[in-house]
Amino acid sequence: AVPVAIVSGISRAAKTGILVKGGKALEIMARVCALVIDKTGTLTHGEARVTHVQSLSSLSADELLRIAASLDQASKHIIARALVQEAQQRDLPLALPTDVVETPGEGLTGRVDGMSVIVGGRTFVATRTPGAKEALARSKHPSGAVTVAVAVDGRIAGILVLADELRSGTAHLLRDLRAEGVERIVLATGDRPDVAQAVTAGLPLDAIHSELTPENKIAVVKAEKPHGPVMMVGDGVNDAPALAAADLGVAMGAKGAAASAEAADVVLLVDRLDRLLLGIRIARRSRGIAL
Ligand code: ADP
Ligand code: MG
Repeated sequence: AVPVAIVSGISRAAKTGILVKGGKALEIMARVCALVIDKTGTLTHGEARVTHVQSLSSLSADELLRIAASLDQASKHIIARALVQEAQQRDLPLALPTDVVETPGEGLTGRVDGMSVIVGGRTFVATRTPGAKEALARSKHPSGAVTVAVAVDGRIAGILVLADELRSGTAHLLRDLRAEGVERIVLATGDRPDVAQAVTAGLPLDAIHSELTPENKIAVVKAEKPHGPVMMVGDGVNDAPALAAADLGVAMGAKGAAASAEAADVVLLVDRLDRLLLGIRIARRSRGIAL
């Protein structure tokens, strides 16, 4: 039988929007030593906004955005949703994309209005588009900003710049987690190193790992295991393998992908990162009672 203290701990957690999938997860949460955390949608609040649209072709800025957003309708990624939202705000008529192939955390390929389109991170687009690297290097965008590159019919078409800010109180939260016994806090992001550095400036992080594939995120989790139980927190489809590999996978459930919630041991049903600290405290208390 499951001890009463565990049951009451799980129900206390549930009341604050923390879904703990069983007694073992609660028990591990009480002992977390290392935190591996995703950037986009986890450390940041997941409400990215398009701040600049730069055409690097004969397309107008609006047409560039319309094409990119049309393809990105097929993705649940936060960046994709920001593009679609901006296009809708500008009243741009989105087309239904076809032949869509998504590489989670990197970008998409597909067809829009008969054109072949690639939308994603600069590396993703550059490796699929001859001459793109040079064109993108010439483009002007603030270093450290989230960017999305767009290629149309095999040529670079432009770049979109987005703002994606940290959740407020994040530095404070990470310090509190350390005080609560989380000795190691490391960032694991699919984004570029300059963006990762700029966004996380001032946060008490032990390491920043960038340009990670979903498999690379697993390796980062495994590398922290000698320190003790590893909690991995993420929101995206690209985080699901790492969530499953961690001792305790925590999914941002309110806006995150269903795949990450499924792979996780704990799902945050409210879009608040401070539930990590609250969850650990609840877990510690229920263990204290159980012992
Ligand atoms: P994180 O791992 O920090 O959550 P991601 O790996 O999800 O970050 O995203 C990193 C970058 O990949 C984004 O900043 C963006 O440039 C690009 N990207 C990923 N998915 C998409 C998409 N669906 N549409 C456009 N860009 C994307
Ligand atoms: Mg993410």
